[in-house]
Amino acid sequence: MAGLFLVVGAAGCATSEASPARHEEEVAPSASAEHQEPGAHASASGSAHGPVHADHPWAYTGDKGPTNWGDLDPKWEQCEVGKNQSPIDLPAVGDEPHGVDKLSVDYMAVPLRVKHNGHTVEVQNRTDSFITIGNKRFDLLQFHFHSPSEHTVAGQRFPLEVHFVNKARDGELAVVGVLFETGDFNKTLEEVWKRMPKSETQDYVNHEKRLVNVADLISPTEGYYHYPGSLTTPPCGEGVRWFVMKETRDIEQRAVDLFRAVIGGRSNRPVQPIGARKVFFFTP
Ligand SMILES: [Zn+2]
Repeated sequence: MAGLFLVVGAAGCATSEASPARHEEEVAPSASAEHQEPGAHASASGSAHGPVHADHPWAYTGDKGPTNWGDLDPKWEQCEVGKNQSPIDLPAVGDEPHGVDKLSVDYMAVPLRVKHNGHTVEVQNRTDSFITIGNKRFDLLQFHFHSPSEHTVAGQRFPLEVHFVNKARDGELAVVGVLFETGDFNKTLEEVWKRMPKSETQDYVNHEKRLVNVADLISPTEGYYHYPGSLTTPPCGEGVRWFVMKETRDIEQRAVDLFRAVIGGRSNRPVQPIGARKVFFFTP
């Protein structure tokens, strides 16, 4: 039984093979990415490799790090006292999902609008991309990255994780996570990586002629985990439906290194207690 149906929008297919110029860029040495975008020169040419986070209210290390998030702001209490927090260590064998709603993913290629918010690199979605859980629709808002991975599987950590954040009309959130292993060049990620802001940006930077075929990053063939969790950053709000794909994707080590350099270090919250929760596994 298929636990997940993947439908790629026709527009996404048609545009995934783009212009000769794009092909040329793909085979160009990665070093050229540094000064590829004229608009990025001002920020990329400074000394701001590894941004300074002094003005940020939270961080992944130090005094403002994850173990102190709950104390930094009363509104972030859930980070400390919440019982259904994310990420978690996913078990090798999950519970059988009897009567639990399945996921279906219906993502189109996303024109690249990318922002460096000081904690991650985020791509905003404005296409009609969505997921469906049972009969409930959640629209894709954005996707972003963490390195190393936030979720682990039977204790194993991965070099990168992407989170696709989806929101229903009533405000409920559902996140689809994909884990990456070090390996081959990833053509889909490279569309983002080549235009990743090298330091923090106030707003999204537009490269809307570039399409990120996000459906390529999500595969149902090995099944997926599902559990109730939270945001993995302050305010750590709960009631988030999590879906993490079992099948990983490849990323080159140099691409992991580039992301770490741009973010200025690690960007993962430690795993949280599973507590009384069940972690379901949907077989394909
Ligand atoms: Zn995330």
